[in-house]
Amino acid sequence: MKKLEGKVAVITGGSSGIGLATAKRFVEDGAHVVITGRREKELKEAAALIDSNVTTVVGDVSRLDDLDRLYAVVKEKHGHIDILFANAGAGTIAPLAVATEAHFDQTFDVNVKGLFFTVQKALPLLRDGGSVILTSSVSNVLGLPGFSAYAASKAAVRNFARAWTLELKDRNIRVNAMSPGPIETPALETTTGLTPEQARQAAAQFASQIPMGRRGKPDEVAAAVMFLASDESSYITGLDLAVDGGMAQV
Ligand code: NAD
Repeated sequence: MKKLEGKVAVITGGSSGIGLATAKRFVEDGAHVVITGRREKELKEAAALIDSNVTTVVGDVSRLDDLDRLYAVVKEKHGHIDILFANAGAGTIAPLAVATEAHFDQTFDVNVKGLFFTVQKALPLLRDGGSVILTSSVSNVLGLPGFSAYAASKAAVRNFARAWTLELKDRNIRVNAMSPGPIETPALETTTGLTPEQARQAAAQFASQIPMGRRGKPDEVAAAVMFLASDESSYITGLDLAVDGGMAQV
């Protein structure tokens, strides 16, 4: 029997990178996935890659109306959620001296407010005994010049896992954070605001700071999320699982 046979999983930011790799992995392991992202075209392409047992809902997690629409679709199609992977997020470069209010608000609107309400609004559909996984980042414990708002937003996410573990324990819902180190996804090139050359340099610099000497692959992160989603981690809650080649562990 597959580890997620018949389970219903919602994955925000499922059209690309870590979310897409996890959606593929969940379906291979027997789940039905509902994935969100902001752009219809990318979502449809992702669904084609996942191939089966996938529903797409276009939406921005920082817009509460969009979250209501997402969960209305989940309710109609499946009636409940077993696994919630609150993964959508992004960070753009902006050193403290030049960062704008718009930069700060955008970072916290998506990574903190969006994730907060992604989980709150899922609660009525989440089955008792379910698993919630929050994508944080190893920057939640590291100083990352140029990305201080992003790192602080991910520290907030890490703390949500602590408080929600206690708030949801009576429903046997486990809540864990998962913190990637630098991973080979489109994010570095497409969403950080770095030029292609700066992105290349940043990737090389990250690799030099990682004991394993390389960036991780989205599939390697998906394997860790799979562990937290499945009963293999039945006695694990409130954790921050780093998937970082040792970057923030030594
Ligand atoms: P990605 O750019 O490949 O994918 C990000 C996904 O999130 C996309 O599907 C995008 O559509 C979605 N998204 C972004 N903003 C959204 C919004 N407002 N509403 C709905 N969807 C939105 O990036 P990724 O590297 O796979 O990142 C996934 C998560 O991992 C993010 O939370 C990111 O902060 C975190 N992370 C990534 C790395 C890394 O090195 N790639 C490291 C640490 C943490």
